[in-house]
Amino acid sequence: MLFYVQYDGIKMKLTFLGSGGGRFSAISQRRMTGGFRIDNINGKNYHIDPGPGALIRTYQFGFDPRNLSGVFVSHAHTDHYNDAEILIEAMTKGMTRRYGTIFGSTSVLNGFEKWGPCISAYHQSKSNTVLLKPDEVVEADGIEVKGTKTQHGDPAGVGFQLNYNGFKVSYTSDTGYFDELGECHEGADILIASVLRPGNRTINGHMCSRNFIDLINKVKPKVAVMTHLGLKMISSNPVTEAKKISKETGVKVIAAFDGLSFNVNYKNPKRFRIISLKDTESHAHSTSHTLYDSERKNSYQLAFKNNEFDELSILRKRKN
Ligand SMILES: [Zn+2]
Ligand SMILES: [Zn+2]
Repeated sequence: MLFYVQYDGIKMKLTFLGSGGGRFSAISQRRMTGGFRIDNINGKNYHIDPGPGALIRTYQFGFDPRNLSGVFVSHAHTDHYNDAEILIEAMTKGMTRRYGTIFGSTSVLNGFEKWGPCISAYHQSKSNTVLLKPDEVVEADGIEVKGTKTQHGDPAGVGFQLNYNGFKVSYTSDTGYFDELGECHEGADILIASVLRPGNRTINGHMCSRNFIDLINKVKPKVAVMTHLGLKMISSNPVTEAKKISKETGVKVIAAFDGLSFNVNYKNPKRFRIISLKDTESHAHSTSHTLYDSERKNSYQLAFKNNEFDELSILRKRKN
């Protein structure tokens, strides 16, 4: 069946204010950890998983946090929630106006066992709050939002799928791979995933490239973006990794980088122009090109020296 979907004419824009993930990527800021923005979806702008630096990255890449309509936080890990409260303050004009929507897991909004809450009752008091639970669909701002299952440290964590007039953007958030994951993200036109490690290097509660290939083969999105790259992924070349995944799946795969932006083409999502946003402060931090070169050479050795490993491997080590 062929039918036309009506959109408001403005193209949705995706922008990555960071492509690093896991605690050591975040602590070292070898990649930024500001999460990503979806702008112009039904006339609204959202910030998703604003980790450490999200506020600063917003300005560095030429955005304004005061035009947000909502903030999404998927789970109670700092690389996902750290800057949520300050962005909520920006959204509500310094908590002086009632405005916007805060989407979050039970752990993020209410607290669950030892996890969260990550946004104080005060910061939740001026906006609508929407609780996201796996397999539950809620409607907000004319967009359907479905919570998706995860297998991760925070047991209440979620991913989600936004459905705007039948166009679907899915975000796995942090999760290990499991059989059902493909069904959770079924129908996604654009699939954004946390892919911490390259190759077959699986790790508890996270996906590696091999898992991402399995997921893409099930979901068959038009475009797949891998972000939340851990130190091992950063040290091997994520762009080459994405090309390999693309070749194996036949799906266009992009490795996110700090400042990656593109306008979504609703009719033909595969066709778009990648924009590399200029970071005016690049001399001051890790997006500097010279630093990036040395980072590729040294980051893994440095991490090893400082005993920094990707999320959860330390926990495993302690058990032994
Ligand atoms: Zn994370
Ligand atoms: Zn996490």
